[in-house]
Amino acid sequence: PINSMRLSFEGKSVNEAFARTAVAAFVTQLDPTIEELSDIRTAVSEAVTNCIVHGYRDRIGTVYITANILTDNRITIRIRDKGCGIADIEKAMEPMFTTAPNEERAGLGFAVMQSLMDKVRVTSKEGRGTTVVLTR
Ligand code: ATP
Ligand code: MG
Repeated sequence: PINSMRLSFEGKSVNEAFARTAVAAFVTQLDPTIEELSDIRTAVSEAVTNCIVHGYRDRIGTVYITANILTDNRITIRIRDKGCGIADIEKAMEPMFTTAPNEERAGLGFAVMQSLMDKVRVTSKEGRGTTVVLTR
């Protein structure tokens, strides 16, 4: 990468705004449009929220973010938790699939990430955690 940053913070919902703002501040060096910045903030917010509410369902754990600036103004943002993991990634990424319907979840987080970013890659291991890589 041409430039990179790493960030880790406690997976508490008060830190979600911090996370998306910190990533946006880092991305600013690429001189993005307001819309691009807004898209990245929203996608990061969805991924971080998933770590907090699903990955660390019944405890507080650490959320890790790495952002890499590549050539041609491309950026990859990796959001990782060491939580419960996802049993069936393909199913989890289907629009409107949620394991938390009674918590007023719409099951649209991954769909939002996919619509705003060029690529969304998810890897996960049950009991070990989940990594989401967003590319734009
Ligand atoms: P919404 O994002 O609309 O509030 P949601 O979080 O349920 O609802 P998605 O973000 O699309 O919807 O995630 C779909 C499902 O994938 C979740 O319900 C959860 O079961 C699983 N999931 C997503 N991220 C994680 C994660 N980091 N750890 C464990 N499970 C996850
Ligand atoms: Mg979600």
